[in-house]
Amino acid sequence: MIGIRVGLGFDVHRLEEGRPCVLGGVELPHPTGPAGHSDGDAVLHAITDAVTGAAGLDDIGSLFPDDDPRWEGADSRAMLRAAMELAADAGWRPGNVDVVIATEGPKIKPHRTAIRASLAELLGLDVDDVNVKGKSLEGMTELAGGRAVTVHAVCLMTRVGPEG
Ligand code: MG
Repeated sequence: MIGIRVGLGFDVHRLEEGRPCVLGGVELPHPTGPAGHSDGDAVLHAITDAVTGAAGLDDIGSLFPDDDPRWEGADSRAMLRAAMELAADAGWRPGNVDVVIATEGPKIKPHRTAIRASLAELLGLDVDDVNVKGKSLEGMTELAGGRAVTVHAVCLMTRVGPEG
């Protein structure tokens, strides 16, 4: 068994007027924000799935069901922290994370540094080990009558302990 694994996470949320625009644990100035049962932080949801995926655990929807009142309006940072604890219990900790945010909503580039710092702190990593890229959706979801934010995340995990 090798001491590294990779996990992949994806998430998409509709953007709605008047919702706080929280992405990667940072509130961005924008008139729309991700809709959702929790705070809708699609970046943290994708990373949570990448972490649990690499650790061989259930996905975010199974671990933190959206019909569970404990997670209603929940700060997604709490979900990521809980997932990291489960991963650590399973013997895995993050090595590096890379994220692509594609959206017709807020511009990501001006907030890259803040989002990287926020993610690095949450994941217990150096900023160099966390990367964030913003992309346009080229108006594709606007053609379908709405706006969205989509996120892809990969997380390298290293084994903790004697086998690592
Ligand atoms: Mg989500």
